[in-house]
Amino acid sequence: MKKEINDLRKSLIDNRPSEQINIMEVCGTHTMAISRNGLRQILPEEINLISGPGCPVCVTSSKDINWIIGIIRDYPVTLFTFGDMIRVPGSISSLQLEKASGKDIRICYSPLDALDFAKNNPERDVVFLGIGFETTIPLSSVIVKRAYEENINNFYIFNIHKLVPPALELLLLDEEIKIDGFLCPGHVSAIIGSLPYNFIADKYRIPCVISGFEPLDILESLNMLMKQYNSKIPEVQIQYRRVVTSNGNPTAVSIIDEIFEPCDSYWRGIGVLPKTGLKLREEYMSLDAMKKFPVEVTDSKEPPGCQCGSVLKGIIKPFDCKLFSRVCKPENPIGPCMVSSEGSCAAYYKYERLR
Ligand code: SF4
Repeated sequence: MKKEINDLRKSLIDNRPSEQINIMEVCGTHTMAISRNGLRQILPEEINLISGPGCPVCVTSSKDINWIIGIIRDYPVTLFTFGDMIRVPGSISSLQLEKASGKDIRICYSPLDALDFAKNNPERDVVFLGIGFETTIPLSSVIVKRAYEENINNFYIFNIHKLVPPALELLLLDEEIKIDGFLCPGHVSAIIGSLPYNFIADKYRIPCVISGFEPLDILESLNMLMKQYNSKIPEVQIQYRRVVTSNGNPTAVSIIDEIFEPCDSYWRGIGVLPKTGLKLREEYMSLDAMKKFPVEVTDSKEPPGCQCGSVLKGIIKPFDCKLFSRVCKPENPIGPCMVSSEGSCAAYYKYERLR
């Protein structure tokens, strides 16, 4: 393996561009893999890896966290959430603090846990916190469909799912960032396939490679990106062929489309991005926790000094935030990028701070 890594590294050095270019690793799992394996440090300095907005916990706004906290404070519900969300601070509290104060908040590994609980406890209203990109949306869609068809009328979804490809287009239109290539997410692409990224190469002339998560995958993907960049023939290539196809998983895409429709969505530190979110279609609206449990959500401030928005857009690196490692640490996270197991700040703190 050492030899393969050295060969791929040498090839990157041989094919490096004449000026510094920015390659965005969109997905938080890639950021973690790059940091954990010290890949940033072995690249030629002309290849600058910047992190993108592909960590669902990190892009969840304070407003949405305040909103779900408002629901569990005002209504006697049981909330099911994935573990990473529990420590993310809103501007008034966090789910962890609410749990400590006695609210019924449970960590689940699958949305099916929430649905099963609702079935077995018909007297209790159950809310599932639906978060994540195209990777997790199919399962949320399945439980919404099942709850609806099985008439489980005490189950609701607090839906803050987001979509990756339209968010990438908005990053390309942002004048604050210059992106020369995308290392596209492997898990999301297993669902949607490679075709939804074609506009990036066709319209914006930016190379894309869908990459796996092992060090060899990432180095090979970077080599593929360099070849495209140097040839000036951008396209969407799949390096992660053992999992990703052009068409993705049509069954999963179809159930998403059956249950949800696109809507605007607020991304933490970035703002409202048109058509990057999903809302329940009219038929399933009775399962919408936001409608069923109305609350007043007024405060949506980000933590003072936190620059998660700029980190998530690749404008700055976590080291550039003044709070990084001085005030903001995993045991005292100020922003979500330090909380999440896929957050850039957490990756840099854990693996790159001392390098
Ligand atoms: S280091 Fe902390 S405060 Fe700074 S951007 Fe990252 S999460 Fe936010």
